[in-house]
Amino acid sequence: MSSPLEIVPVPAFSDNYIWLVHDADSGETAVVDPGDAGPPLAEAERRGWTITQVWNTHWHPDHTGGNLSVKDATGATISGTAAETIAGRDVDLSEGDEVRLGSHTGRVIEVPGHTLGHIAIVFDEERAAFVGDTLFAMGCGRLFEGTPQQMFDSLSKLSALPENIRVYCAHEYTLSNARFAAYADPENAAVSARLAKVEAMRDAGEITLPSTIAEERATNPFVRAKDWEDFARLRSAKDSFR
Ligand SMILES: [Zn+2]
Repeated sequence: MSSPLEIVPVPAFSDNYIWLVHDADSGETAVVDPGDAGPPLAEAERRGWTITQVWNTHWHPDHTGGNLSVKDATGATISGTAAETIAGRDVDLSEGDEVRLGSHTGRVIEVPGHTLGHIAIVFDEERAAFVGDTLFAMGCGRLFEGTPQQMFDSLSKLSALPENIRVYCAHEYTLSNARFAAYADPENAAVSARLAKVEAMRDAGEITLPSTIAEERATNPFVRAKDWEDFARLRSAKDSFR
């Protein structure tokens, strides 16, 4: 029996989370989307961990800006989406590829929309998915490169995962997403209950992640959209929502 992965959030910039993933059996530690190297290196050192791998979901600088500094400091191997330019990448990842951390295996799925080459990494046995800026708690990423159809398909792929998969997103956007969800889906009691819970958590300075696939199916208006046209209408409404 292998030990469960330890998954730790490292806050960075104003609202990013860089996730550290540690396997106690092998001593390996991965950092997911290090937009900045300082915070994850410091947190790893505080815990006595050495970062051995970097995993990048997409090219945006707030997800890759620390890649080279992490590599310089630790010699970590950088694995990232094959379809985009990723600083220092050693290993190309695309649909069906695997990342390994000790005896734990994550599989790569392509989820374009926020960017065209965006990937997610799913650990089925660990029930954990690293989704970058594709799926957020009660929300989803903006469509910087892809079409509404692509993003709708990507969210459908993620929401089809087992409901007990924990969802590790890359930003603390839950409160503003919850307010939009309450506006877009006013009759949904699960949404209003979650909004109240998220308000209390943020008032207490708590992190609202990880989410779960079950929570997103119940409360995320973008996941609950009935087709891509419905999704596109919601996404543009959210873009101008205050
Ligand atoms: Zn992004």
